[in-house]
Amino acid sequence: MQDELKAIEAEAVEKLQAADNLQDLQAIQVAYLGKKGSITSVLRGMGKLSPEERPVIGELANNVRQAIQTTLQEKKQALELAELEVKLEKEAIDVTLPGKPVTVGGPHLLTSIIEEIEDLFIGLGYEIKEGPEVETDYYNFEALNLPKGHPARDMQDSFYITNDLLLRTHTSPVQARTMGALNGKEPVRMICPGKVYRRDSDDATHSHQFTQIEGLYVDKNVRMSDLKGTLKLLAQKMFGKDREIRLRPSFFPFTEPSVEMDISCKVCSGEGCSVCKKTGWIEILGAGMVHPKVLEMAGYDAKEYSGFAFGMGPDRIAMLKYGVDDIRAFYTSDVRFLKQFHQA
Ligand SMILES: [Zn+2]
Repeated sequence: MQDELKAIEAEAVEKLQAADNLQDLQAIQVAYLGKKGSITSVLRGMGKLSPEERPVIGELANNVRQAIQTTLQEKKQALELAELEVKLEKEAIDVTLPGKPVTVGGPHLLTSIIEEIEDLFIGLGYEIKEGPEVETDYYNFEALNLPKGHPARDMQDSFYITNDLLLRTHTSPVQARTMGALNGKEPVRMICPGKVYRRDSDDATHSHQFTQIEGLYVDKNVRMSDLKGTLKLLAQKMFGKDREIRLRPSFFPFTEPSVEMDISCKVCSGEGCSVCKKTGWIEILGAGMVHPKVLEMAGYDAKEYSGFAFGMGPDRIAMLKYGVDDIRAFYTSDVRFLKQFHQA
């Protein structure tokens, strides 16, 4: 019986040392130490032993059990450690790799341009006004001297919601609303930036949605020279101190006289190049003295009050300033395009 137990110990230890995974260890444990294992079945023969022999065999059996248990534990630890090492190697994190940059957004280029213009006019004592983008026919056209059937309405076809409601085609209704709210009693100095809509076919220079900033100054004794001085300041703020401006006669239904403002070409300094179409000048905005009819519709006495108004497109200013050749780039939300201007 002693030999049998010793043989079991030797066999079990050998098998344990050869095992290369935890499942095998478990199987060996059951086979030798389990209730139906080899040691138990040997000990079943204890009844045939003499009382003197029994404690000797019992002790030996315990020692064998202990020896197998110890080897099992050692092997188990070794296998677990090896398994952990493999896992660590597989899931290793290289702490020397550069971290992922935290992406921070920035204002849209058009927002930056609008804010730059707002800053200038706030400095001149103007207020920033906003109005609804869904506008009535009255404020979008009639209050601006564009009665129903006026041919100039054709230049501003829009998206109609009902016969009387449309997406505004310009920010001018905000001027009419602001003047109307003052009942013709107080001076006005305001600019109104915002989105406007026209039923244009989209191409490199046209978009059915674009932005506008209009300005209005109404007071006693406002003159054309005030307009010219203000526009020159604007041109130099947006395009550089050495820009010259020129005013050309034009037509808008809500101003009389009306002008277009050009700035001297920055690329060729007036020599003539492809950007300025060989003229040395680039058209920037439209302006004029507020039409007496528009003043009167808003409740102002046109004999006492006068004013000027101007309107420009931040899209066009951004395109000229940064050499953007397709207006659609502002509205298609391609981050690769937009993020170039975050430092601008
Ligand atoms: Zn030029």
